[in-house]
Amino acid sequence: MAFPPLAWALIFVIGSMVGSFLNVCIHRLPRDQSIVFPASHCPACRHPIAWFDNIPVLSFLLLRGRCRYCRRTIHWRYPVVELAAALAAIAVVARFGLTAAAAVYFAFVCALIVVSFVDLEFQIIPDEISLGGLVVGVALCAALPSLQETASRPLAVGRSLIGVLVGGGVLYVTGLLGDFIFRKESMGGGDIKLLAMAGSILGWKLVLLTFFIAPIFALIPGLTVLLLKRSHIIPYGPFLSIGLVAALFAGNDLLHVTGMEETIRLIWYYYRPW
Ligand SMILES: [Zn+2]
Repeated sequence: MAFPPLAWALIFVIGSMVGSFLNVCIHRLPRDQSIVFPASHCPACRHPIAWFDNIPVLSFLLLRGRCRYCRRTIHWRYPVVELAAALAAIAVVARFGLTAAAAVYFAFVCALIVVSFVDLEFQIIPDEISLGGLVVGVALCAALPSLQETASRPLAVGRSLIGVLVGGGVLYVTGLLGDFIFRKESMGGGDIKLLAMAGSILGWKLVLLTFFIAPIFALIPGLTVLLLKRSHIIPYGPFLSIGLVAALFAGNDLLHVTGMEETIRLIWYYYRPW
């Protein structure tokens, strides 16, 4: 996309400011606190944070990662999330242009950022984002049918709902199999709801692709946790999220390269019910 450098800088700054808000969500959603009130304050000493100490990324560097008042360290998550959101804004505009679809995908990636960090820390995925996002996702497809590659609103909503069923369904069935094999809960309900939500935006093919590629991203961290902590429990939300971002940006190429598109077509051809 041919924008002047200043436009990219502006997109970066807006993205990082959204990231600042995502940090508030990551801190407050799992604690059941309001995300709009009260204003930002230091979680350690509760001192309100002045606007000049609340500039994304920059303030963290200027303050050398410490609260101005109590000098306790600021969580590394704050600048990382601000930077991640800024890069996400750049990436969606570079890939999808300055379009309504790009705005939807940016919101989607932002939701995944919140989910990933909350899941890492609390091993939960907030329903506000998974179930709330699912409803918003279906509604957005009705408002913007091109998200589901059609001009027809009813068809877009239909595809969105099939995405929900396939996304939630594959993980639900996998969970049932896992429960049967390991005799204990193996798949969290939050993961099921997250992939269902993703299906409402990305459609069934891309969530099915995510289902197959997410374990690849989880493999090394999963083995590390198994060896170091002797635990087989890892939060899966971050790896689903990485898989979903890969599916969003490279999904159609991946479907083609991995032969999944062809496989789906063949299975459909031989096993369709009519
Ligand atoms: Zn403080």
